[in-house]
Amino acid sequence: MNFSKLSLTKEMLQTIDSLDYNEMTPIQAETLPLILKGDDVIAEAKTGSGKTAAFGIGLLSCLDVKTFRIQSLILCPTRELVDQVTKELRRLARFQHNIKILMLTGGESFGKQLGSLTHQAHIIVGTPGRVLKHLKKESLVLSNLKTLVLDEADRMLDMGFIEEIEKVLSFVPKERQTLLFSATYNNEILAISKKIQKNAINIKTTEKEVQNKINQEFYETNDKIDTLIKIFANYKPQNVIVFTNTKLEAKELAESLIQNKIDALAIHGDLEQYERNDVLVQFANKSCPVLIATDVAARGLDIKELSMVVNYDLPHAKETYIHRIGRTGRAGAEGIAITLYLDREMHKIQEYKEDIGKKFLDISTLKKEQGFEMQPQYVTLVIEGGKKDKIRAGDILGALTGDVGLQGSNIGKIDIYDRQSYVAIENLHVDEAYKKLKKGKIKNKKFSVWIL
Ligand code: ADP
Ligand code: MG
Repeated sequence: MNFSKLSLTKEMLQTIDSLDYNEMTPIQAETLPLILKGDDVIAEAKTGSGKTAAFGIGLLSCLDVKTFRIQSLILCPTRELVDQVTKELRRLARFQHNIKILMLTGGESFGKQLGSLTHQAHIIVGTPGRVLKHLKKESLVLSNLKTLVLDEADRMLDMGFIEEIEKVLSFVPKERQTLLFSATYNNEILAISKKIQKNAINIKTTEKEVQNKINQEFYETNDKIDTLIKIFANYKPQNVIVFTNTKLEAKELAESLIQNKIDALAIHGDLEQYERNDVLVQFANKSCPVLIATDVAARGLDIKELSMVVNYDLPHAKETYIHRIGRTGRAGAEGIAITLYLDREMHKIQEYKEDIGKKFLDISTLKKEQGFEMQPQYVTLVIEGGKKDKIRAGDILGALTGDVGLQGSNIGKIDIYDRQSYVAIENLHVDEAYKKLKKGKIKNKKFSVWIL
């Protein structure tokens, strides 16, 4: 399981060491030797099992840095995933000089991407639609491509990207390595593998991975909102994602919960990218304890330490159920997954009843609590300045704590984006923080500030 068993460069081993990756995860141990050899691989492994580093170390190792041509393309289903994969690749590349990795996703300025592409790159990470658009415009040329990766292939197929992926394939050389990564495996995956891979070797490590400790409970109800509130009161989760099947329901449920003094935000396909970001930041930095989401909107969302997932609506397929509940109980922590169903949906839960480890409970077992509320620990302030203004977390912290200001402990997570920064402030100190930032300067400049 030791990385040093592989034929990796000294720089790569050093990087791995600096990241504290002491040994390979099962999927890395089984796929990396094949990937380094140049084989095509289909890899099925659980979420959080280290798939990114598996293909990342592989493709960085066969990169010819001196040749400024695109040598690897990684397709991911969502912008958030593109962002995560890019970050992990940049971490893995940090001791190798001059490696250029570019992101190409929708919702971002096409012109800006054109500009970046003219400067050439080694690796592209993108969503299928936007990558295809650049290929058609010939702003992206893949004639030197060595490795193609489909990450989260199952989700890309679910989301209907198959046509775009096939079109992208028509722009890449036939002689190449193709790697397919997925959390689930089914006939569709097999079909696409047959189409785009050569003698692909199938690796599955799902059994070897630590089983997430997820307590799965099912409740029959005829008043879902009331039951949901009772569940919150009973378990008092720190943070929870509630899944609905439609975006309308997501919006309505958030409104009903707020009326019941439970602070909630909804994320669904109708949001603009910046609104989506506002919501995700607030949920991740503890400025909102409850996130209501549709499956599509929740794709790519990676919140560490999520204590509970609720299936407010029964998912249409068991695979969706697995994806949803897999978001809690990560990294060995315990999680709770609650599923609500109506009397008339009894037949649909039969297939769940056959599995071991699932509990079917009666709502009368839930402890009642008068006046139960769920309010966030923090409130988010937005500062209209970010990386492009050379702002770093330390600058914001300094502006808030300087001259007998706030204590560091009153300040939560700080997220810095290109043109905006978000800072979580403890409830009681929001006004003070707001005034301080509004009056004061960061890096000797004034910035607009508002409360989200
Ligand atoms: P997946 O794509 O399989 O869902 P990721 O690639 O996002 O999982 O990895 C999950 C986390 O595990 C990341 O934070 C990553 O940095 C970390 N990780 C990856 N490989 C190792 C390793 N060998 N040892 C320790 N942590 C690792
Ligand atoms: Mg992944």
